[in-house]
Amino acid sequence: MRIKFIPSRLVTVGLLLTLLYGCDKLPSPREDKESFVAMGTLVEIDLYGVKVSERPRILELAHKDFDYLDYALHAWRAGSLGRVNQMMSAAGEFSANPVVIPILQQAQSLSRQSDGLFNPAIGHLIQLWGFQSEVLPKGPPPDDAAIKELLAQQPSMQDFVIKGVRIANSNPHVRIDLGAIGKGYAVEKVAEHLRTLGVNNALIGAAGDIKAIGAHGDRPWKIGIQHPRNKTAFASVELQNNEAISTSGDYERFYDYAGKRYHHIIDPRSGYPAEHTASVTVIHSNAATADAAATALFVAGPELWPKIAKQMGIETVLLIDTQGQILLSPAMRDRIHFETASVPALQVVKLP
Ligand code: ADP
Ligand code: MG
Repeated sequence: MRIKFIPSRLVTVGLLLTLLYGCDKLPSPREDKESFVAMGTLVEIDLYGVKVSERPRILELAHKDFDYLDYALHAWRAGSLGRVNQMMSAAGEFSANPVVIPILQQAQSLSRQSDGLFNPAIGHLIQLWGFQSEVLPKGPPPDDAAIKELLAQQPSMQDFVIKGVRIANSNPHVRIDLGAIGKGYAVEKVAEHLRTLGVNNALIGAAGDIKAIGAHGDRPWKIGIQHPRNKTAFASVELQNNEAISTSGDYERFYDYAGKRYHHIIDPRSGYPAEHTASVTVIHSNAATADAAATALFVAGPELWPKIAKQMGIETVLLIDTQGQILLSPAMRDRIHFETASVPALQVVKLP
């Protein structure tokens, strides 16, 4: 997990932490339902002020939503996006299952705003690296010639036009992989669903993508941010109602080969894992936007991130580079709290 619920000693996070940290005072026999594995990751849902008797049904519905979206939006399985990808392998026009349309539209627009640094159309490249698989690849890295060949095909989210439920594609080399936005999108949809069930206070997290509904009683939800080079929550932020936080890091899915680290965030310009960044954390009201932006700004790196953040409408950003330098936007500086004994050296960078 890139973003962590922090220990109760520090914060207000309720049930789940009570469980994890072993001070079990709660009567419910179903507390273990508060986390489950979906989309290949640990999903944690913290419900505040929801009757113990109602929790199992709510958590089951949330779990179903995650499983359905995983099926529908998986790039390589036989679901709705899988079929879209099959149809994309020839230029032309086809009808798509409408469930994919809103996320594709959002991904197209975020990709454009990021100058293509967030580019879900590079599915073939991600597969070449092996990072589409739930099993972590071991290396060696792919041949440079194979990478160059896929780059030359220039797959882009702007190669297809959405017309209602029809998609007209002009580049058969596009393969859409929603790995950098799908968990955020799912978290957002589950939050919408929970609100309709009368849940007014909850924290929904799928690994590094977390969304807050309401608060934890009279205190806001507080989220720990993991340092990319050690496992401690070195900082924290409080989320307001309806805010989401996403972190992308080079320490989550990677392998070492011949003394070099190869991680899962690919720079679409080079075809290789993005260099210079260790982790990026972003806050935004929409969890899918936050997810995509964390990936885009990771690729953008220590020099370019302020420009791309501005273009994507993101104001609250923390970037830690591979030298350990901490860069942040003024909005992040105003709300981040360091859990370390002293405030580390920071570089506050204004957005253009
Ligand atoms: P995580 O999945 O660990 O939360 P991200 O949100 O950054 O991390 O997404 C990384 C995943 O997104 C990769 O596993 C891959 O499937 C896909 N991906 C990698 N590089 C890019 C990129 N430049 N643009 C869009 N998707 C990417
Ligand atoms: Mg992402």
